[in-house]
Amino acid sequence: MSDEITIAVAKGRIYKEAIPLLARIGIVLKDDPEASRKLMLDTSWANVKILVIRTTDVPTYVARGAAELGIAGKDVLLEYADDNLYEPIDLGIAQCRMMLAGLKVAAPVVDRPRVVTKYTNITKNYFAGRGQQVEIIKLYGSMELGPVLGLSDWLVDLVDTGNTLAANGLVTLDHIADISSRLIVNKAAMKMKNALIKPIIGQLADIVGDGS
Ligand code: AMP
Repeated sequence: MSDEITIAVAKGRIYKEAIPLLARIGIVLKDDPEASRKLMLDTSWANVKILVIRTTDVPTYVARGAAELGIAGKDVLLEYADDNLYEPIDLGIAQCRMMLAGLKVAAPVVDRPRVVTKYTNITKNYFAGRGQQVEIIKLYGSMELGPVLGLSDWLVDLVDTGNTLAANGLVTLDHIADISSRLIVNKAAMKMKNALIKPIIGQLADIVGDGS
């Protein structure tokens, strides 16, 4: 068994908040991802490497054991649920809300409203819970344009300040879920590398105050 630990961290907003959190438990980046072309970054812990990858790829790397640990948004974890993952800590970073939104001045709701989203599973489950039939249209970005251009009646997306919605004449209609980033762990690695992984989980839980 190797004593290497790889932590897959989602790019962007999550990365910016996760790196200082890891630094607080002593895992400090030695490589500068901006300056380096390396995809596996060295840290001050000789056996710990950090991968910075697309947020939707983080659960795949960890579930399949290519990385032992990961830091990903709850949005992605809800969308791509996987039995091979533990989710021991809510890190409380990159907080936002998954919301249903629509035009401020909207036409009457039709029988089977159309909803644009990148989160088709979350949206399907949400409307199933409401007992409402909808047509879900998958988009990969700029969901706000759906209702504005008449592609859809509603959208489901992450909302932080609400500025993007407001700037496009949209309002929130319902709160679907509170979102923040979670530490995820490969289930097999949790057993095989427990002596290495447990202290990392323990120290992160201590600094974010979540030991659940
Ligand atoms: P805001 O205008 O602050 O409400 O931000 C909304 C935009 O930022 C939308 O395009 C969202 O998809 C994106 N967004 C908001 N929060 C997050 C987050 N925690 N992670 C990734 N994207 C986010």
